[in-house]
Amino acid sequence: MLVANENSQLVMANKARVGSEYTCPTCHQPVRLRHGKKMVAHFAHLPGADCVMNEGETAEHLLGKQQLFDWLVLHNLAPGLEVYLPQINQRPDILFNNGGVQTAIEFQCSPLSVQRLRERNGGYRQLEIIPVWVLGKPYRRRLSRAKIAQFTQVFGGQPAILYWNTQQARFEYQQGYYYCSFSKKRLTAERIIRRQSLALSRPNVRQAAISHLVFSSNVALSCCPLVCHDTVPSWPVTNSELIYWRIAVVLYLGRQPLFAMWKASTWQHLLTQLGQPFWLDFTCLDNGLNQSAISCLTTDLQRAGVIKKYSDHLVLCRHPKWFNSLEAKLAAITDYYSAMA
Ligand SMILES: [Zn+2]
Repeated sequence: MLVANENSQLVMANKARVGSEYTCPTCHQPVRLRHGKKMVAHFAHLPGADCVMNEGETAEHLLGKQQLFDWLVLHNLAPGLEVYLPQINQRPDILFNNGGVQTAIEFQCSPLSVQRLRERNGGYRQLEIIPVWVLGKPYRRRLSRAKIAQFTQVFGGQPAILYWNTQQARFEYQQGYYYCSFSKKRLTAERIIRRQSLALSRPNVRQAAISHLVFSSNVALSCCPLVCHDTVPSWPVTNSELIYWRIAVVLYLGRQPLFAMWKASTWQHLLTQLGQPFWLDFTCLDNGLNQSAISCLTTDLQRAGVIKKYSDHLVLCRHPKWFNSLEAKLAAITDYYSAMA
């Protein structure tokens, strides 16, 4: 920790003096001032101390916390360091008033489960504090879809993962997670559809599990109608490739009678329900991002003439066409795109 009590006054470790006596602001047990080459100045409980706030912070965590605090001071945001909030038994790394909104910064360097993150956010919500999760170096690896969703926050209307770079003492926004199913590269729509069709034709364990769970019918996923393919990159919202959810919707539509009709709100609800096995948990957002995936598929279905909009209703006008074989589909893709060229 970076602050301790000295005669009931809070003192920051980088202003503390060797030889003085300090106590922990939470448990009031004695703590020792430490500083060396690898770690910024900080306080540590004595061995065996029993304190709820004793979390064994890493050098990266202590350094980042100090830097974030300094950064907020520099921007005249009057931050509080390690302020203990007894009502919720939490101690955010930094607490500050952001234009009238109490804001907590958590600099996260260690693993954190969705469950723990939800509890911490819930605590802050109780006190009307907005938490901001800033990730450190251990999170600078290839993040799984679930981890991306867990720490996705929206800045300036755009989803991003927020990092603090301790080497350069600055914020970094990672926004490079827009992908199409089975394709991280920016390719033409034609090439993406080919890639996705081939990927769906390969037997694979994950796919088998999804097919078993979601697609009770014994369909060859690779022969799915062209409208199933997502060719516009999107932020991850599903636990497996987005195309599986889109196929689930198209399969459902295939089982409905022509001219079936949905009110706009029922349609939203239906597509959300059909995505239940797939949606990721956006722990830091009030609303997940699946709305954008729903809008995108709705537009694609309208463009393909599968559904049409009549005032505030959507009407099923055509059943999406499945292919008899992968070869027939690949040939149809070639024909379609050469006719467009
Ligand atoms: Zn303590």
